Amino acid sequence: MIQQRGPLGSDATIGILGGGQLGRMLALAAARLGFKCHVLCPDPHSPAFDVVRRVTEADYLDMAALDRFAADVDVVTYEFENVPAETATFLSARKPVLPDPKVLATTQDRLIEKEFVTSLGIGTANFAAVDSPDMLASALAKVGCPAVLKTRRFGYDGKGQVMIRDGGDPAVLFNDLGGQAQILEAFVPFEREISVVAARSGSGQTESFDVIENEHRDHILKTSRVPAAVTPAVSAEARRIAEKIAEAFGYVGVLAVEMFVVKDGTGHAVLVNEIAPRVHNSGHWTIDGASVSQFEQHIRAVAGLPLGQPIRRGRVEMTNLLGDDVKDLGRWLSTPDAAVHLYGKTAVRPGRKMGHVTQVLAE
Ligand code: AMP
Repeated sequence: MIQQRGPLGSDATIGILGGGQLGRMLALAAARLGFKCHVLCPDPHSPAFDVVRRVTEADYLDMAALDRFAADVDVVTYEFENVPAETATFLSARKPVLPDPKVLATTQDRLIEKEFVTSLGIGTANFAAVDSPDMLASALAKVGCPAVLKTRRFGYDGKGQVMIRDGGDPAVLFNDLGGQAQILEAFVPFEREISVVAARSGSGQTESFDVIENEHRDHILKTSRVPAAVTPAVSAEARRIAEKIAEAFGYVGVLAVEMFVVKDGTGHAVLVNEIAPRVHNSGHWTIDGASVSQFEQHIRAVAGLPLGQPIRRGRVEMTNLLGDDVKDLGRWLSTPDAAVHLYGKTAVRPGRKMGHVTQVLAE
């Protein structure tokens, strides 16, 4: 494992695994701080390729390409959590990889992630491991209905999960999700969904952004609003949870924690749904709505620079342009307070994240 030693020099190159819009916005933030970026991604149409100095179009397991990539960069980071373990191990023997790839082993698996969160004394939905139809039957007896059955790995945007309202045949449900390792979670009757985006530096400085309220359309994030309409107690608790998770990982970079707010007697409880070990869609508002963005915080952290102290510029609303929403571009371009961000994707598909719009409004 190669460790980072001191801040990067101004001629440094940051290597980014993954070339989607998150990689693109990380690279733009890095450029503002004077760094160069090299993006590695197998997709020739990667949005990040358009804005960086060097690109490697290669599979994440192409070791010869990884070797050349490592030789060209000073530090490696990533924009998605499904970086194969072999890739992370190979690169960490050559250059510092931040955040430490050990967080991937936890966050790539919903069961290990929930066990980690509960070991910190933080609440989640009740859950049980499911490796067979028999285990699903006993998990349903333990967790109760309604419940959500999810694959342990590779689920996103509602893919790889099924809602169970009133039992059903465990063998059919188990096989519907491909018969792979699964987790059953109690359905959480949440009042709202929130997230916290937090940054931690190598020296242990931690800065979290204000709590974000998220609204989904067909399981895909549609709108984020800041500040979330939650009590000061919920807001403090949500930030404490995100910072505690960052601390427990010894994390360097930006992470996002998605949470549910549920009514609990006269107050509220905050339960963790998921941890994303990367910059996050719900943090896009920070580019226009805060004094330092989530992307810049991440670059500062992996470059060994001090973090910024984020100041929010007002009440902020971020709207994702999903699929055909991008046809509304003309309207957004002529809305005076709208900051339009497009990711350079040409093929429009239903639900595909084509861009986003941020509006900063008076408090
Ligand atoms: P996930 O892929 O785990 O982030 O889930 C996607 C979305 O499904 C969440 O943002 C929630 O809206 C919903 N969801 C997931 N798990 C649960 C749960 N245990 N209870 C209620 N809603 C859930």
